[in-house]
Amino acid sequence: MKQLVGVLLALACLQVQAAEEQTVVLISIDGFRHDYIELHGAPNIAKIAEQGVRSDGLMPVYPSKTFPNHLSIVTGQYPSKHGIVDNNFYDTERQQRYKMGDGVKDSTWLTTLPIWNLAEFQGVKAATFFWPESEARINGRTPSYYFNYSTPAPNRQRINQMVEWLKLPEAARPRLITGYFSIVDTMGHRFGPESHQVAKAVKHVDELIGELWQRIHDETDVPVNLILVSDHGMSQITAQDMIDVNALNINEDMFEVVNAQTRLMIYPKEETTEQQTQELKQRLMQQAAQFVVESEQQLAQLGVTDGPRKPAIVLGTQAPATFTTRPQDQRKDGGTHGFHSSRDMDGLFVATGPAIKQGGELKRFSNIHIYPFMAKLLGLELMTEIDGDAAVLAPIIR
Ligand SMILES: [Zn+2]
Repeated sequence: MKQLVGVLLALACLQVQAAEEQTVVLISIDGFRHDYIELHGAPNIAKIAEQGVRSDGLMPVYPSKTFPNHLSIVTGQYPSKHGIVDNNFYDTERQQRYKMGDGVKDSTWLTTLPIWNLAEFQGVKAATFFWPESEARINGRTPSYYFNYSTPAPNRQRINQMVEWLKLPEAARPRLITGYFSIVDTMGHRFGPESHQVAKAVKHVDELIGELWQRIHDETDVPVNLILVSDHGMSQITAQDMIDVNALNINEDMFEVVNAQTRLMIYPKEETTEQQTQELKQRLMQQAAQFVVESEQQLAQLGVTDGPRKPAIVLGTQAPATFTTRPQDQRKDGGTHGFHSSRDMDGLFVATGPAIKQGGELKRFSNIHIYPFMAKLLGLELMTEIDGDAAVLAPIIR
C-alpha cells in the first residue's frame, strides 16, 4: 500500500510538472506597424490581444532593419553583440561583405546563442518555419525541425506545419516554434504604410493567425503561449527626397560603401589611412544637408560598439529621405524602415496563453527583452550574459 501511495504521488508530481511545461509559438509579421490593428483592421489579432497582453509598441534596435531585429528578438542582444549589425554590412577584419542569410553558409557571422539553441542545449525541441538565420548551424546545432528560406513556402502551408508539429507525440513535439510572414512588409515597401495593398496584406495575415489560434485549440490540448511580434514599423518615403549616393563622390578604391537606404555605412580599406578617413568625414559634414554624419556619442547611445563591423563613418537620414543609387526616373514613393527609433518604427507585441495574464496593457519596450521572457516561459536557464532584462516582461507572466 505504501508503495502504491508512493507511485501515485510520483505520478501526481509528474503530472504537475507536465502541466507546467509550457509551449511557445513565436510569430513574426515582418513590418507590421504598432497601429496596423486599428488602421487596417485585424480583428483576429485584436481578439487574441484581448485574451492576453498587448504593448503600445515594440521598439526596434538600431538599425530598424529586418535581420538585426529578428536576431535581437531571438538572442536578447544588441546587433553589435549578436553580430548581424545590418541586413548588409562589411567586416574590416574578415574583409568580407555580409548579406542577408549568409549565416546559413557560414555560421561564424553569428556570435551568440539564439533561443532555439538555448532550448535544444537544455533538451527542449525547437522548430522554425521560418526565422532569419534559423537554418544556420550556430554553435554546431540547428533547431530539431527547420526549413530553408531559399524556397519560400505558401503561408497556409506554414500554418498547417505548425499545427502538425503540435500534434506530434510528446517525445517528438517541439515546445518552441517560430513562424514568419513577409507579405505586410513587402506591400509596405512597395506602396507605403497607409496603402490599401498593406490593408489587404494585414487582413490576409490576420486570417491566418486567427485560423492558427483556432486550430491549436480545436486540434490539440497543448498549453500554447502565442507571441505575435514584428521586427519594425514602416515610414512613408518619397522619390523627391532621395539622396543620390553617387553625387557624394566617395572614392570606392579607398572605402567600402554599403548603401542601407536609410543610412550609408563607410569603411576604410586596408591601405586607407586614418587621416584620409577623417578628411572624408569632414567633407561629408560640410555637405550634410539632407543627412547627418552620426557622432560617436550618438552611435554609442544606439548600442553600436567598437569592432570590425562598425563603420568608420555613418550617414543617417530621416523619413521621408533615403539614400539611393537609382537614376531619377527610376525612383518611386513607397515605404521603408531602418531609421532611428520613432513611433513609426515601432512594431507589434501581443502575447496570450495559459502562462500569460489577461487584460494587461504594456508601455512600449525594446525587443531585446523578449528572449529572457521566452526563456522563462519555457523553463530555460540563461547560459550567457544578455542585454535584455527578464524584469521587463515578468509582470505579465501568471
Ligand atoms: Zn523586416
